[in-house]
Amino acid sequence: MFILSHHLLNIGAIFARMLPAQPCLLCGADSHTGLCCSACDADLPRLTGAHCPVCGLPAPNGNLCGACLKQPPPFDHTVAAYRYAFPVDKLVQELKFRERLILVNYLADALAQRITLRPDCIVALPLHPARLRERGFNQSLLLARRIARRLDLPLLADACERVRNTPPQSSLPWKERDKNMRQAFVCQPGAAVHGKHVAIVDDVMTTGASIGELARALKQAGAREVSAWVVARTMPHV
Ligand SMILES: [Zn+2]
Ligand SMILES: [Zn+2]
Repeated sequence: MFILSHHLLNIGAIFARMLPAQPCLLCGADSHTGLCCSACDADLPRLTGAHCPVCGLPAPNGNLCGACLKQPPPFDHTVAAYRYAFPVDKLVQELKFRERLILVNYLADALAQRITLRPDCIVALPLHPARLRERGFNQSLLLARRIARRLDLPLLADACERVRNTPPQSSLPWKERDKNMRQAFVCQPGAAVHGKHVAIVDDVMTTGASIGELARALKQAGAREVSAWVVARTMPHV
């Protein structure tokens, strides 16, 4: 078995070398794997070390953190591929403002690799229709589509809607972000989430207020359990 997988890896590496070299998005060196060269990929700030299973922030021994013990958020688990730090922040910003499929696939695949607990279905954090018209696409939906295909999970693309066009969370102090998101989302009456474990896909989690508010709406619609899947998690300044 080991020999077989070893050979498959070698074949994969040979095929990768046969692809035309493209400049690495981060350093400009030749990359045969598509977006970043293997050296830049290895340097990305992956979320490693012990962290709280609920909110994804560092916690000794991977136990529930004090904040989640005191006031559990509306979601039950967080999975993040990276820390929101250089150069992942640049990649995520690029994703937000340009619809580049290669970048979507790269970041979605990094997140899909971290998933160990399979939910029943996936939803993407919705954009308000006015914001969607302005941007032309919802980056969270692009990520969710790729992850749903990779993990063979149903994507409920129309289950939830953003009904309040709130100011961008990044424009507000952390303390005001919860209030800003209140009642921002609704689940469609026919959404098939009752009794289900639903995973929410988004690009970045900062305070968790947006995903928390959507998780609340999903639970009001009967969801049994909600996971937050994000490409990058903002870490507190230490
Ligand atoms: Zn590079
Ligand atoms: Zn926590």
